[in-house]
Amino acid sequence: MIAYLERFVQGNDADIRESSDISTLSQALELDGTIDSGASFSLAAKDFGGMVAHKPLAFIRPSTDDDVVRVVKEAARWPRLTVAARGNGHSIHGQAMADAGLVVDMRSLSQTVFRISKIGGAFFADVSGGALWEEVLLRCLSESRLAPRSWTDYLGLTVGGTLSNAGVSGQSFRFGPQTSNVAELEVVTGNGDVLVCSRSVNSDLFFGVLGGLGQFGIVTRARIILHQAPKKVRWIRLVYADFADFTHDAEFLITRPESDSFDYVEGFVFVNSDDPVNGWPSVPLAPDQLFDQSRLPRCAGSVLYCLELALHFNHADPSSVVNKMIGQLGFVDGMRFEVDVSYVDFLLRVKRAEQQAMANGIWDAPHPWLNLFISKNDIIQFDQLVFKNILKEGVGGPMLVYPLLRNKWDPESSSVVLPKSEIFYLVALLRSNPPYPAGPSVESLVAQNQALIECCVRSGFDFKLYFPHYDSEEEWKRHFGNKWWKFAERKGRYDPKAILAPGQKIFKRGS
Ligand code: FAD
Repeated sequence: MIAYLERFVQGNDADIRESSDISTLSQALELDGTIDSGASFSLAAKDFGGMVAHKPLAFIRPSTDDDVVRVVKEAARWPRLTVAARGNGHSIHGQAMADAGLVVDMRSLSQTVFRISKIGGAFFADVSGGALWEEVLLRCLSESRLAPRSWTDYLGLTVGGTLSNAGVSGQSFRFGPQTSNVAELEVVTGNGDVLVCSRSVNSDLFFGVLGGLGQFGIVTRARIILHQAPKKVRWIRLVYADFADFTHDAEFLITRPESDSFDYVEGFVFVNSDDPVNGWPSVPLAPDQLFDQSRLPRCAGSVLYCLELALHFNHADPSSVVNKMIGQLGFVDGMRFEVDVSYVDFLLRVKRAEQQAMANGIWDAPHPWLNLFISKNDIIQFDQLVFKNILKEGVGGPMLVYPLLRNKWDPESSSVVLPKSEIFYLVALLRSNPPYPAGPSVESLVAQNQALIECCVRSGFDFKLYFPHYDSEEEWKRHFGNKWWKFAERKGRYDPKAILAPGQKIFKRGS
């Protein structure tokens, strides 16, 4: 192993690949799993963003948690070798890559643990860090009527991948992000130690890892809080012409008591036109529902807004409850769409879009997505400058905008790099264009993202990037603000050689 890596570290990686003695590397690491080459090897050099490509030295498919420990410990012996845990590679800017390093395929550990338990009257599922949220949902429901409380919109993401960021969706206003819904983690630190951590045991590591961008350890197991899953969901969309009315109602709903509100609150902006992707057709929830634009007020501008709500129910028809709550809202008269779907179909709603996008080649095209959190105090001006202006023709995909509550985020966790206001908005520009030249060039879209960020800076908005990506330490320091020193201190404690998650480009590998 030593000779093998020495040749690599000092020399030319092409030589190593030419020698292609993957089995030698495998033997030297004494893995229970395998080291992959061929098509899946190149998978480790790609992500959903499709804008960054870094070839690793090796793509490791562990079959036990011990394999993960072996890889981290071995990497620590070499001056420049890094290790990236790869969840499902749904990052945008190469965050799960390791340029000439070791990429660990966490998906190959997806089935290593699944256990539902009752502790102190509450229910939990212990799941692998490499499990997809979709797998967690289906497994929980096959063994119980229980399910996690806090989700992402799309469930083809791994537990370890979203917990390294935050994991937000329409339930986050009530339960907080996914990082606020974890009771315990098992982590392989950059020192190669296996540590169990929670709020009361190794709490510094626990809070560090939650939203820690993979910097402090590799999550091999997470204990997720569960609750009773409903059988069905009433899924509703309400159209607004006025942004102030939209934000008023969204904020009203997320601050109601649990017994008097919806179970899911999101929203999006769409173009006031018949554009099939960006416009009116993106709103109805069923093929037999028509968007009747004649109902729109004359004052409607270039973009419109849609509040997306869901109410859980089992057998009783929820119409009277829904009507009562909706009766308090100021959407455009008659612009209401709704369907009843099973709970599973609701949570897997983006899977259908994924299948379509795969079929028409858009899933594999580059995705220069931009996600940010912006203070409630600036969101009206943001709408004026950005939605109504820079983005008035849409982004070729959903433009999400919905409010979240700061007090549902654990202040200790690394994920709390947020605007200062109690209510802040997620803005997600989920660009899904056909590849150039059928669609716009990636460069033009990246430039638009940059212009938009500069507009926020110039306007003095209180905002933070969600899924941040920066190149210099200075930028990272600015991003973290007064949380930087704590973050850097934790790095020194749990991964002092900066072996882990090099694709985030926060710390440089030390010797
Ligand atoms: P990867 O991209 O593989 O990894 C992300 C980072 O986490 C990397 O730095 C990696 O090294 C690290 N990492 C991965 N696994 C582990 C582990 N086990 N332990 C420690 N570190 C690890 N986000 C939301 O919050 N809400 C949404 O609704 C949402 N919807 C999305 C829809 C789509 C179609 C896509 C592509 C993304 C969406 N995201 C959403 C973003 C998503 O949460 C992040 O991109 C997340 O990082 C992807 O998870 P992944 O498993 O693919 O992680």
